[in-house]
Amino acid sequence: MSKLKPCPFCGGKAEHYTIGHQDGYPSIRCAGKFCSFTLSGTTFESVEKKWNTRHADNKLTTITKQRDGLLNGIECLVYKLQRAQLDEYEHSAIDCIKELLSTIKEQKDAE
Ligand SMILES: [Zn+2]
Repeated sequence: MSKLKPCPFCGGKAEHYTIGHQDGYPSIRCAGKFCSFTLSGTTFESVEKKWNTRHADNKLTTITKQRDGLLNGIECLVYKLQRAQLDEYEHSAIDCIKELLSTIKEQKDAE
């Protein structure tokens, strides 16, 4: 059996078990106290693959959400700064942030 990544939902330790009796379905479940995430399959190998892939998918979703949250925060900041009384130097700093923002947005749109 291969190494299992932590639970994609709570980060808890994953463990192998069999649903039903001895000849039941090979499964992996989260041993977390308040989590009951479980995956089953026909072989432990296939379930392990599914479990570890699920972990990667969920991590990517989390990173994407964090990025989108940061983009919204930066947009809000730029909006507020543009309405503040700033000197020329400070306005050039805002232009740098806006340029960075549009680069990240272009990459996001290309996904
Ligand atoms: Zn869990």
